Amino acid sequence: MDARHWIGGEWIDAGADALPLIDPATGRTVGRAPRGGAAEVDAAVEAARRALEPWAATPAPRRAEVLLRLARVLAERKDELAHAVTHEMGKVRLEARGDVQEAIDMAAYMAGEGRRLYGHTTPSELPDKLCFTLREPVGVCGLITPWNFPVAIPAWKSLPALVCGNTVVLKASEETGYSATLYARCLEEAGLPPGVLNLVHGTGEEAGDPLVRHPHVPAISLTGSLATGQTVARHAAPQLKRLHVELGGKNAILVLADADLDFAAQAILWSAFGTSGQRCTAASRILVEAPVYEALAARLVAGARRLRLGHGWSDAVEVGPLVRPAAREKVERYVRIGVEEDGARLLTGGRRAHPSPETAGGWFFEPTIFGEARPDMRIAQEEIFGPVTALLRVRDLDEALAVHNGTPFGLSGAVITRDLARAMKAMRAMKAGIVYLHNGTIGAEVHLPFGGVKGTGNGHREAGIAGIDFYSELKTVYVDYSGGLQRAQIDTPRDPDDPR
Ligand code: NAD
Repeated sequence: MDARHWIGGEWIDAGADALPLIDPATGRTVGRAPRGGAAEVDAAVEAARRALEPWAATPAPRRAEVLLRLARVLAERKDELAHAVTHEMGKVRLEARGDVQEAIDMAAYMAGEGRRLYGHTTPSELPDKLCFTLREPVGVCGLITPWNFPVAIPAWKSLPALVCGNTVVLKASEETGYSATLYARCLEEAGLPPGVLNLVHGTGEEAGDPLVRHPHVPAISLTGSLATGQTVARHAAPQLKRLHVELGGKNAILVLADADLDFAAQAILWSAFGTSGQRCTAASRILVEAPVYEALAARLVAGARRLRLGHGWSDAVEVGPLVRPAAREKVERYVRIGVEEDGARLLTGGRRAHPSPETAGGWFFEPTIFGEARPDMRIAQEEIFGPVTALLRVRDLDEALAVHNGTPFGLSGAVITRDLARAMKAMRAMKAGIVYLHNGTIGAEVHLPFGGVKGTGNGHREAGIAGIDFYSELKTVYVDYSGGLQRAQIDTPRDPDDPR
C-alpha cells in the first residue's frame, strides 16, 4: 500500500524520508507515502499549468466522457479502494464502500454536467441586444483534503473542477495517501490526460502551505479543521484567491416529545457512532424534550453498549478505531473535561476499548454518552471528533432551537418528530447548511449542495450545481446588433415625465 506522487503523468515513489501509512485498527505500518514539499508542489503546479490550455479547450461533453469512464473504473475497483480506506483510516467496510460509492455517484453526476454547465440568457433593457453568461475555468485549482473521506472528498472537489475545464493539484491527507493514489490511478485508467490532475503528498505545513501560497494557483478548496481553515484563509488572502473552506461541526439532533423513540435511538446511534464519530456531520449533541429524556437515554445507552467494535474489514464490526493515538488522546481529554470540569454525567463508555487480540495495537474507544449536559459546557460547544455524544434536556422546541444555534458551527442539524408544523418551524429556524427532518445528521447526496454556515464554512458549497459555481468564472456577454450606439441606463426609453 505505497502512495506515489502523480505529477505530469509520472508516478514518483517515496524517498528515504517517507511518511508511514498506518492501519489504526492494529497500529501496524501498512505502507509509505512520499513526503513532498515546495519542490514537488512547484513541479505539480507547472504540470497543471501546461495542461490547462488544451484541457480548457476540450469541449465539456468530451471532458465529461473521462468522468463517465471514471465512474465505471471506480465501480470495478470498488473493493480494492474500500480495502485501502479501511486499512488506512479505519472506517468499517460498509462505510468504506459508501465512501467509494460517493465518488462513483459524483463522477456520474458531474459527467452529466458536461452537457449542461448552464449560464443565463436574459432580456436586455435595450432593443436588438442580447445578454447571456458563459462559464469559464478558473485555472489551476489547489485541493486539500482530510483523511475521513479519503476517496469521496478528493472526488467532490476534483470532479466539478475538471468538468469545468480547470486543472488540479490535489494535496491529499498525509494519513490516507494510498487511497488518493488509487483514486488517481483510476483517473489515469479512465483516460485523463497527463498533468490535468496532479497528486502530491506531504504534511500540511510542508506541502499544503506552498500550494495555498503558490502565485499560479488562483483557487483553493480545503476541507479540514477550523484551525487549518483559519490558517489557510490568512495565507490565501494577500493574493485575493478564490477560497472555499469546509470545516468542523457540532451537529445536533432535536428529539421532540412525540417522536418514535426506537427510531430516534437508531438514527442517533448511526449519526453519533458511525465512522467512530469522525464525520464532520456526526451528531455530538442530542437535544431532548424533557418528557422523553429518560426513555430515550435508556435506549441509547443500551444501543451503544451493543455496538460491535473491531477491525473494520470484518463484516460483523459496526464501529472501527480512531484514526491516530492523538485523536484518541483528544477524546480522552474531552471525557475528563466532561466529567471534571463540566460536571456532566457519564452514562456509558468513556474508556479505551480492546475488542480482540488481533487489534491489540489499535486505537479504539468505547461509544460514549454523556447525560445532563448543559449548552455552555465545553463538551457541548467544541468539536471532539470521536465516538462521544452529549444529551441535553430542553423544555420545548424554542429552547431546543436556541441551544441548537448556540455554537460557533453550523453544518448539519436534524429534528425527529411526527408533528409537521413543529418540524417545518425547526427547518426554518435551524442555523445550519444542511437540515434533516425525521432522520439523523448524516446522509448527504452528491447532487445537492453540501456545506455549512458560521465557523463551518465561508459561504461556498461543495457538490451539486453549487460545486460547479465555485469552479467556474462567470463571463457576462452583451451582443448589440442594433447597428448604432445604444447607451445602457441613458438611451433606455422612459416615461416623458421622469426627470432622469
Ligand atoms: P486537518 O485540518 O488536520 O487537515 C486537513 C488537510 O489540511 C490535510 O491534508 C492537511 O495536511 C492539510 N493542512 C493542515 N495544515 C495546513 C496548512 N497550514 N496549510 C495547508 N494545508 C494544511 O483536518 P483532518 O484531521 O484531516 O480532518 C478532520 C477535520 O476535517 C474535522 O475538523 C472535520 O470536521 C473536518 N471535516 C469537515 C468536512 C466538511 O465538509 N465540513 C468534511 C470532512 C471533515
